[in-house]
Amino acid sequence: MKKIGVLTSGGDSPGMNAAIRAVVRKAIYHGLEVAGIFHGYQGLIDGNIKPLERGDVGDIIQRGGTMLYSARCLEFKEEAGQLKAIEQLRAHEIDGLVVIGGDGSYRGAKALTKRGIPCVGVPGTIDNDIAGTDYTIGFDTALNTVIEAIDKIRDTATSHDRSFIIEVMGRDAGDLALWAGLAGGAETILIPEEPHDLEDMAERLKRGRDRGKKHSIIIVAEGVMSGQDLQVKLLEMGIETRVSVLGHIQRGGSPTARDRVLASQMGAKAVELLLQNNGGKAVGMRNHEIVAHDFEEVFEESPEFDNEMYKLSKELSI
Ligand code: ADP
Repeated sequence: MKKIGVLTSGGDSPGMNAAIRAVVRKAIYHGLEVAGIFHGYQGLIDGNIKPLERGDVGDIIQRGGTMLYSARCLEFKEEAGQLKAIEQLRAHEIDGLVVIGGDGSYRGAKALTKRGIPCVGVPGTIDNDIAGTDYTIGFDTALNTVIEAIDKIRDTATSHDRSFIIEVMGRDAGDLALWAGLAGGAETILIPEEPHDLEDMAERLKRGRDRGKKHSIIIVAEGVMSGQDLQVKLLEMGIETRVSVLGHIQRGGSPTARDRVLASQMGAKAVELLLQNNGGKAVGMRNHEIVAHDFEEVFEESPEFDNEMYKLSKELSI
């Protein structure tokens, strides 16, 4: 292996830059050349590829987003698109590829591995929805962003005796909502992994109101329903609420120390795997150790969900 490529794909997440930096520096440290592929798989198909030197990744560890830009690319899902990508990789003499992204990006990486270019996946997503890793890069930063927002909304909720619904991202996963709800002291947390009973929830809110508790924070994961839909349903049951949809602020911002360290460790591990010609793997962190699993295992398993944490959040919000 003489030259490796690196790209970011799918939704961006804070810490992707730290991961790119780790890939580039670790590869150069081991005598490899690095090619940066811009705009994800679309850029790969189009040959939007430039060499990256150690200085090119200076001053990015603290920045959100991705200096390589990200994209979604339908063409790459088809055989023709993948063959064009392989042609570009061969033309640029790229022997292996690090793909930083989510589950969809991993599927692309697996397809390229099958077609002869070993690829390694690094989990970059705020959703924490990838099997084989306890944390994904960006989750911690997004969590802190959500908590900051909850704290601020709580101030106005308290001042005006209002109940607030806060809609949190996470696609089909509830980790961001659950962790943020627990850390933000939410009264109610709705996540896709657990069934919910809106009537029971409305009853609890009414009981609280009768006890003199005039405000509450309800966190709803986008994978359950939208904040607006929940607001309408609660109103039908006599509960008035305000809605705050946090949206894309959750994807931005300077990565936390935790995300920077995780990204550095995972980026470096990806390069190690390629140096061992050990492609077709996804990097993860399990029980504080950096590990790697076959893409297939990651696709077959569901991301782990912490039932105990959910139970705790209920116990603490009585
Ligand atoms: P994420 O990586 O965050 O899950 P997406 O699901 O949008 O984001 O995937 C990012 C890109 O990965 C897609 O735009 C597409 O180019 C590629 N991709 C997704 N699924 C597949 C697939 N089944 N086969 C090949 N490429 C895929």
